[in-house]
Amino acid sequence: MPTISPRRRLKQNNFLIWDLIFWIIAHNKLTIQLLKVKAHSNNKYNDIADDLVKQGRYISDPILINHKFFHQSSLGLINLYNNIYIVDRNIKHGLIDWDYTKKWINYNPLDSPTSEKLRNIQVDKVKKATFNYPTGNILQRNYPDLYPLGRIKCTNCNTYEDSNAHIGLCPKHRTFISSLLEKYKIKLIELIRNNNDSSFTFDIESSINASNMFKLLPDILNLALLPDEPSSNSSNLTIVPCEQPWILLLHHLIPIDLSTFFYSYYSKKCDRDRYFIKFLSDFTTELKILTWSSRSLSFKRWEKSLNITSKKKKNYHHLRLSSRQTLLPPTDLNRRIPT
Ligand SMILES: [Zn+2]
Repeated sequence: MPTISPRRRLKQNNFLIWDLIFWIIAHNKLTIQLLKVKAHSNNKYNDIADDLVKQGRYISDPILINHKFFHQSSLGLINLYNNIYIVDRNIKHGLIDWDYTKKWINYNPLDSPTSEKLRNIQVDKVKKATFNYPTGNILQRNYPDLYPLGRIKCTNCNTYEDSNAHIGLCPKHRTFISSLLEKYKIKLIELIRNNNDSSFTFDIESSINASNMFKLLPDILNLALLPDEPSSNSSNLTIVPCEQPWILLLHHLIPIDLSTFFYSYYSKKCDRDRYFIKFLSDFTTELKILTWSSRSLSFKRWEKSLNITSKKKKNYHHLRLSSRQTLLPPTDLNRRIPT
C-alpha cells in the first residue's frame, strides 16, 4: 500500500473513496495486480464496471459512510462527525456551527437506538443538508425522460425553479415563516431567562431581539431570488444569504447566530445540549410543516397531473438498463410528457 502523508491524502480527490478501497484490500487480504484494459473492448468486467458507473450517476442519496472504515490518518477530519460524515462541497456558507450540526443530524428522537425509521430521518436530514433532496431540478436530472423539459417551477409560487435552495426564498412561505420566527424568538427569550446558569443575563432580551436569526428580511430574500445566469448548470454553488441565518435550519444546518445564545448562557455542556436540541426539535418541526411539507403536497399534486408515479420512478433506471442490455431500442421511455 502506498505511503503518503495525511495532508496529501486529504488533498487527493475522492480520498474517502480511496480510503475505502484500501480498507477493502486490507480487510480481505487481497493481492492486487493492475492490468490496463482497452476501453469499449467488450471486456466483461470492464463493461460491468462501466454500467455501475452509469447507474451511480443517477443516485441522489448522499453517501453515508461509517467512519470505522477510514484510514486512521483521515480521522482528524472525520472525527468532526461521529457517525455521519457529510461530503459538503456545494454549499457556500460562513456561519454554520458544525459541532451542533453534527449533533443535530445524529440526534435520535426515537426510543430505539437503531431502526429503519431513524435511518430515514437521518437520510432526509443529510439530503437536505447537502441540497440533494429530490426537488424538481434533481428529479429532472435523475429522470430526464419522465419529467418535462425546461425549468420545473416551484409549485407553491409558480415563478421560480423548484430547487433545494429555493425553499427558504419562496415568496409564498414568507408571511408564515415571519410569524414563526417571532414565536420562537419569544420562546427562546423565555427559555433562557428561566433556565440559564450564567451570572451575566441582563442583556438576554436585547441581544436576541437584535439578532438576524429571528428577522425575515424581504429585500435580502428578493436579492437572492434574482434569476441566475443562463448557464446555471455550471454554478453548483448554493449560497444562503448570511443575513438570513434561519434559512440554514431548513437544511438542518445549525447557524452560529443561534448556537451563540446557548453558549453564552449555559456553561454546563449537558444542559446546553439538552435545551438546545429540544429547542431545535420544536423549531424545525414547525418550520418544516410551513415549507417542505407544503411544497411536497402541491408538488405531488402536480406530479399526479402529469401521471408521474413513484412506480415509474422505481422502474426507470431498471428498465433503461435492461433495454440497453438486450439491445432493444428504448420504446416509450424516450417519450416526454408534454409541457
Ligand atoms: Zn416558490
